[in-house]
Amino acid sequence: MFDFRPYFRASVTSLLIILLAGCAVEPQSQVQPQSVTILHTNDHHGRFWRNEAAEYGMSARKTLIDHIRKEVAAENGILLLLSGGDINTGVPESDLQQAEPDFKGMKLLGYDAMALGNHEFDNPLTVLDKQHQWAGFPLLSANIYDKQTGKRRYQPYQMFETQGLRIAVIGLTTEDTAKIGNPEYIGKLEFRNAAAEARNLIAEIEQTEKPDMVIAVTHMGHYDNAKSGINTPGDVTLARAQQPGSLDMIIGGHSQEPVCMEEENQNRNDYVPGLPCQPDFQNGTWIMQAHEWGKYVGRADFTYQNGELELQQYQLIPVNLRNQPAAMPRLQEDQQMLSLLRPFQQVGEKKLGIKIADLNGRLEGDRNQVRFRQTNLGRLIAAAQMHRANADFGLISGGGIRDSIEAGEITYKDVLRVQPFGNTLGYVQMRGDEVLDYLGHVATKPTDSGAYAQFYNLSLRLKNGKVEAVRIGGEPLQPDRQYRFSLAGFYASGGDGYPRLLDHPGYVDTGFVDADVLRAYLEQHSPINAADFAPAGKIEVVN
Ligand SMILES: [Zn+2]
Repeated sequence: MFDFRPYFRASVTSLLIILLAGCAVEPQSQVQPQSVTILHTNDHHGRFWRNEAAEYGMSARKTLIDHIRKEVAAENGILLLLSGGDINTGVPESDLQQAEPDFKGMKLLGYDAMALGNHEFDNPLTVLDKQHQWAGFPLLSANIYDKQTGKRRYQPYQMFETQGLRIAVIGLTTEDTAKIGNPEYIGKLEFRNAAAEARNLIAEIEQTEKPDMVIAVTHMGHYDNAKSGINTPGDVTLARAQQPGSLDMIIGGHSQEPVCMEEENQNRNDYVPGLPCQPDFQNGTWIMQAHEWGKYVGRADFTYQNGELELQQYQLIPVNLRNQPAAMPRLQEDQQMLSLLRPFQQVGEKKLGIKIADLNGRLEGDRNQVRFRQTNLGRLIAAAQMHRANADFGLISGGGIRDSIEAGEITYKDVLRVQPFGNTLGYVQMRGDEVLDYLGHVATKPTDSGAYAQFYNLSLRLKNGKVEAVRIGGEPLQPDRQYRFSLAGFYASGGDGYPRLLDHPGYVDTGFVDADVLRAYLEQHSPINAADFAPAGKIEVVN
């Protein structure tokens, strides 16, 4: 099944000699193999700049891609540069600038198309529209529909015609976006079954566009042998659901791994830079993914001849990774890209590196803690939100806390590591008996889940899964009194299985961004005494 011919250049040459020698009457396009190179990345997540160890970054990536472009052009080859999506969210310098440097950098790199990833929906849809303009190339997804109109919300596919070859690139987005995305932003969107959408769309394109090749850029994840667990099905399921031979390749993302197969249906989990990489092959479809963050550029060299596409060589090319073989040369950073990105990096650093507060002890935000018990950081964030919303108590979830803060100077960068999602703050006003009912849904969320709730200015007892002895500000909850509490818009929209509050007459979206609320609170209350937020005895669990 896996046929590598690294000396394909030689075989092309010998074919040409045969052609020139005898078969001159044949139309050239029928006989001469056309070389097609697909370059790909995925799950960029804000990494426009190199990291502290000078790994990856778009400037070095440009040097590499420019080099390959020259090489391919010299051979009269066709080249497409594609992305499996998730450009947004992960690095404060990028997040703070709505990934403007990332999308403008992709434009300069010459990306031809990308799949919309779930994290493209971390911001309001107007931001994504803006990002589309910065990118200047198609952001594709065939399975996202507008609930109201029943029509596709984004461009489903793009045709590329070059040297007589017609290549269709279709886009697909994980249906899990509906579950894990911010309901405030995606509430009007419907994420339909990607495999079924692809089947219909490919059948349609075959009639209308008559492509020679069909490529899917997807953000759905690669799961060995289609075992996707609690995730919705990914690329392997997609490939198996198509008419054999109708989909040539999938350029994927979302599971953030190098797809390098050890044996059939089994990805190797010990891949290191420099090793050969065997992409997955399912039902006649190649499946490729280049880990994450621009650590690698995936390079697939095909030949196309008489309607047949054949993979000649595949590589994951590391971009200045620490653990790549010493024999692989370091890539210089491209000057043009550096001039584009440096001002963004400087603006970002300036905004993030400034001290906003002093702190005398560690604020606990580790995943293994905040999803299991009340912590000082959980309570501090809830306190900051409660104060900003003028509420009686504050509520946040463990899943919304992404890092700890160490004692010493706190910067905005530290805050954004804790709260990278840019959720807006909401509050709701309701009667005490209604609050009790709401707490019955929320305070009972299981530990070891992102939904696990943390509170400030509220104490309660959980006895056999039932909420009792609720006190707000030290006073017992009164059923007929009005209370106001603060929470992230994500949870008010029904995220993580919380009761939906957006339509509640007492609900208000403040429009304040969570990280900004926390930054302001820390600034105003500096120096921060970590012990003030210790959770002792606030939430008692009795079995
Ligand atoms: Zn993703």
